[in-house]
Amino acid sequence: MKADELRLEEVVRFTKGVMDLHGRRLVIHDLHALGQFRRDIIDMMGREQARRIFTRMGYFWGQADSAAMKRLFQWENTSEWLKAGPVLQSLQGIGAVEARILEIDETTGHLHMEVTWCDSAEADEYLNEMGLSEDVCCWVLVGYASGYSSYCLGKSVYFIERGCRGKGDQVCIAMGKDVDSWGDEVASVLPYFQADDIQGKILTLTEELREKELEVARQRRELEVALSGSRIASTEVRSRRFLRVLELAQRVAQFDSSVLIVGETGVGKEVLARHIHELSGRSQAPFVAVNCGALPETLLESALFGHKAGAFTGATRDQAGLFEEAQKGTIFLDEIGDTTPAVQLKMLRVLQEHEIMRVGETRPRPVDVRVISATNRNLERAIGEGSFREDLYYRLRVVEISVPPLRERQDDILSLAREFVAKTARRLGLPELRLDASCFDYLLTHDWPGNIRELENAIEHAAVLCRDGTILAEHLPPQIVRRTPHAGRPGVPRSLDDMEREHIQRVLEFTRGNRTEAAKVLGIGLATLHRRLRETRQEKPPGTA
Ligand code: ZN
Repeated sequence: MKADELRLEEVVRFTKGVMDLHGRRLVIHDLHALGQFRRDIIDMMGREQARRIFTRMGYFWGQADSAAMKRLFQWENTSEWLKAGPVLQSLQGIGAVEARILEIDETTGHLHMEVTWCDSAEADEYLNEMGLSEDVCCWVLVGYASGYSSYCLGKSVYFIERGCRGKGDQVCIAMGKDVDSWGDEVASVLPYFQADDIQGKILTLTEELREKELEVARQRRELEVALSGSRIASTEVRSRRFLRVLELAQRVAQFDSSVLIVGETGVGKEVLARHIHELSGRSQAPFVAVNCGALPETLLESALFGHKAGAFTGATRDQAGLFEEAQKGTIFLDEIGDTTPAVQLKMLRVLQEHEIMRVGETRPRPVDVRVISATNRNLERAIGEGSFREDLYYRLRVVEISVPPLRERQDDILSLAREFVAKTARRLGLPELRLDASCFDYLLTHDWPGNIRELENAIEHAAVLCRDGTILAEHLPPQIVRRTPHAGRPGVPRSLDDMEREHIQRVLEFTRGNRTEAAKVLGIGLATLHRRLRETRQEKPPGTA
């Protein structure tokens, strides 16, 4: 059998609407739809990926046709079988094809062949949909010729299109050679024939993105510190209790001992940890803060200790953990009471051996990190209940610092509030922002269950609501301004308590919120005044005028 004796009507059968090439079902594609599909793929995945997809589609098609041709006929020689491919293509409506075999050696698989497509439908389709191309565009044809020839020779053959009607040439010409006969030139087209691990790339990119995010977070932290200095240092601290905390912090900063900071949520445990770091000899190395309660066990383990590539699904490459990132510096482990026994055991190892093991590795790596941890839980109770390791507890709390809640540092409330006003002014771009004295009483008598964080949020809330840059009491969040001063009901005789309350309010207004002075004027102690103010608020249900 010779290639030029091939007739399409003899090899393709139509029966009951099914078209078949000796057992292989065929379908007719609409050229225009294929052009639109190509455009979509280019838009969605980029030109390089699109070229890869269409080249591989042609390659599989060519291989299948080559196999069918082998099943159908006894070819005179491999050259005729090879040339039947282009003939089959032209018969299938791809356009007029001429094939010339320049050299062939069947024993070594050596091939040098040239194919000319005079009227490439693929180039037409491209021109119609995308306009003149800058580069060759008969990707399916090139893939087909390569797949067909490779099957014939049992060796990889690659075609490279030299000229193309899609980029303005008269005809499309492609040169085909076996892989050994090509020089370096073939390297540039090889990727189009190979499958791409897109999923793997996405995972790698995701990992890179995570690293970038960590980096950005680190830079943001550095910037915050640079802009505001140490927040503690810039605040005028007056309360005795907190001054004692600062003294202790300053002392422990000189040593590498582990510190456990306890206190209610929002009291500024992380700020204190950072303060200790900045006062320490490690201040030039990183301070890394981790909220252990925010991550599930496996993620926390990988975040803290890092992992080896392949340690779990999604671990595409080796990744250092936060302990390594904090090398020579300080790691702050917040919500330490929320960790699982497995993580607790690993932390114990870090504290005892000063080394970590990445997830999936067996080789320990030395780390030189100072550990500061914090919790708002009662760890001694957790030990009693069996949810926290006692040995870890003693390692973590070589020094324990207890941060008082804001309601027990009333002398600091106003200076903290002023500091937050200044900070919010910078951040929101409100240079005129100031706190009116009418807010003082409310700020001083609120219980602050959310502590400093609640105060900071309250100031931001008020800053957003106030119009001319002056924060008035009415701008504070409702839970802070639940009661109205001078709450008498007109016409109804008032109780002694009401009178007292009103009188206290009036005196406070007179002293512009200064309670020490108010207490002097009223002739009572400061503690009594505080108690009265608190009682007053608790007696009155919310919303009562
Ligand atoms: Zn072309």
